[in-house]
Amino acid sequence: MNRACLLAVVLALANAVQAAEPPLPTSVVTRLPDKERVVALSFDACQARKPTRLDHGITDFLVARGVPFTIFMGGRFARDHESEVRALAANPGVSIQNHSWSHPRDMRLLSDEQVRGEVTEAARALERVVGRRPTLFRFPGGHADERTVGVVEAMGYRVVHWRWTEGDPARDIDADMLVEQTLQRTRAGDILIFHVNGRGWHTAEALPRIVDGLTARGFRFVTIEERLGQR
Ligand SMILES: [Zn+2]
Repeated sequence: MNRACLLAVVLALANAVQAAEPPLPTSVVTRLPDKERVVALSFDACQARKPTRLDHGITDFLVARGVPFTIFMGGRFARDHESEVRALAANPGVSIQNHSWSHPRDMRLLSDEQVRGEVTEAARALERVVGRRPTLFRFPGGHADERTVGVVEAMGYRVVHWRWTEGDPARDIDADMLVEQTLQRTRAGDILIFHVNGRGWHTAEALPRIVDGLTARGFRFVTIEERLGQR
């Protein structure tokens, strides 16, 4: 199968999986409320039981270029990578947000109390390591429904997902495919989602071309928090 064909199949599958889920409440942020040509780079730092790592190929590049970005980080990830995360968070333009404590496979299967526990425990770890309280939450795997979103919003969070996914945890999506699909699909206000926990196999390799390509197309990079905070 050639590259373009493989890309089409992978994207069709990803969209089919998304379509199989009931629609999320409209309060879930899937793009920035912006007509301006802004785009938010977001990265998930997921960690369930197996240890993961901070992908410095991604963070070093963005920090050096002064490109703002948002990481949705698991509480366990923050705990296990404390000094690296603290150093990263000290850079301007780096926003670190809540991605649950233990990265449950599907938070819809948890009770209200368990959902609150996941959010609170992660917030505590992030606040201790990052030094700022998170205000945004992303559900692991994007699995959420009216009830679980309601529980998290009642805690004062905005829930932030995406309009379309990059699919970078699939090993066969190479750097060229990531660049190509990003430049083709990105629209004003999009929230791009990659992985910074070592599971975005080709993300660090693709990122310089993505940043240059989007910049050349007139996009400006922003953090999600700064754009939502204005409204
Ligand atoms: Zn995740």
